[in-house]
Amino acid sequence: MWRHLGVVARTGSNVNFSRMRGFSALVQDKALVDGAWVDSSNSKATFEVRNPANGAVIGKVPNMTVEDAQKAINAAKQAYESKEWRSLTAKDRSNLLKKWHKLIEEHSQEIAEIMTAESGKPINESKGEVAYGNAFVEWFAEEARRVYGEIVPSALPNREIIVMKQPIGVAALITPWNFPMAMITRKAGAALAAGCTVVVKPSEDTPLTALAVAKLAVDAGIPKGVINVVTTNKAAPIGDLFCKSPDVRGISFTGSTEVGKLLFRNSADGIKRICLELGGNAPFIVFDSANIEKAVDGAMASKFRNCGQTCVSANRFFVQDGVYDKFVEQLKKRVQALKIGDGQGCDVQIGPLINEMQFKKVSGFVEDARSKKANIILGGKPLTDQGELFYAPTIVTDVPPSAQLYSEEVFGPVVSIIRFRDEEEAVKKANDTRRGLAGYFYSENLQQVFRVAKRLEVGMVGVNEGIISAAEAPFGGVKESGVGREGSKHGIDDYVDIKYICMGNLKYD
Ligand code: ADP
Repeated sequence: MWRHLGVVARTGSNVNFSRMRGFSALVQDKALVDGAWVDSSNSKATFEVRNPANGAVIGKVPNMTVEDAQKAINAAKQAYESKEWRSLTAKDRSNLLKKWHKLIEEHSQEIAEIMTAESGKPINESKGEVAYGNAFVEWFAEEARRVYGEIVPSALPNREIIVMKQPIGVAALITPWNFPMAMITRKAGAALAAGCTVVVKPSEDTPLTALAVAKLAVDAGIPKGVINVVTTNKAAPIGDLFCKSPDVRGISFTGSTEVGKLLFRNSADGIKRICLELGGNAPFIVFDSANIEKAVDGAMASKFRNCGQTCVSANRFFVQDGVYDKFVEQLKKRVQALKIGDGQGCDVQIGPLINEMQFKKVSGFVEDARSKKANIILGGKPLTDQGELFYAPTIVTDVPPSAQLYSEEVFGPVVSIIRFRDEEEAVKKANDTRRGLAGYFYSENLQQVFRVAKRLEVGMVGVNEGIISAAEAPFGGVKESGVGREGSKHGIDDYVDIKYICMGNLKYD
């Protein structure tokens, strides 16, 4: 499809690629294994990285094989067992993470530009992600020193019960394209803080951000083999290796529910530690008691960040009868005013969808709703004049339960609105899904706030707030949205084993 893009013809793929390399020494064309920048062992095979805004090739990275991934696991294992890593104190590891944090901060503009070029994310949002992603490095640098154990009073004399937390060993981290940096630092920061070593498999759509951030980890002095990055556009066999390898003790995955389930199943034999952050189907409820201006602000932030491509994006808007017309009218005005374009433009708010598959999914869902008699009151069409992957910000009302927009995550700039009568109906409909990641509601009624916050079957609730992620807060879902929590003090739990040491026959007298 890319060949048909006018912009490619104008820009020329090589020109754009050289520009990327020119403006940032952080753009890598090799993967990172055992501290070395390496090619694929399969005849140095590569795959192209493209800018979704215009289809231009902006980089090439090694298309690595299962053998390469095995080398990365070996390197991580060796590093885990090496004196250079094992002998470090928690404070030493904390200091290394702090150095990494500082370098990321110093290079934040470059990283943001790389991120926008390969993901299409508007540049202001990319800058926001770099700050958010780096907050995890800082947070886990601090938490590294607080992986406390316990001494528990024993029921028997002359005995002490000591509980300590130890790193699990090598962790494999598989990350998506929608947060090309933050999903890596949220996992790797916690893993390194705990004393683990990692093999990162970034998304094939956004490997350049991953490599850039890894380069800064090397520059920060993180020992060789502690962070390895394997790039590939054939994830399945490498994912399988992670699941089967006895040397990989834990897997942390952020991505689709389908792949998460596969990894869960495949890692059962090895009884792996597994952390899954999968898709959501977030309800966004606006009650009659809501402050409508705030609700519209929250709706815009939650829905249109990263063109609707976040797993905590509001997916179904339930709006109560009494405020329905006002909310829809105000929201429509705001959506009409969104500035669409190549994310490199500093005032752009909506960029392209990430790839053709996403584009087909979003347009397919809207067509499905149209065929089921939903009302498309805004958008509902591709924006071909912008580029092949641009889709108009869309509002669909009267979405019936049979529509895909109602039951599945659209992952695009589409607002689906459903009217409701009372609180009971809203909560019931909100919970009528197998997913349970985030949920949002707007209400100024204190009693209602507590009632609804408790009843929503999700891992995270935004009350009168549309953006809730923070390094200090536990991120994760219930039901089929995943297991485990990332960020916060709980984010380290997936990377440590609890060991009980029974000290017996102590002579105290
Ligand atoms: P999305 O649909 O959002 O792209 P995916 O779950 O396909 O989500 O991708 C998230 C991450 O999982 C990416 O790094 C991708 O390469 C990887 N991935 C895809 N399929 C598999 C698989 N079978 N095993 C392991 N990782 C996979």
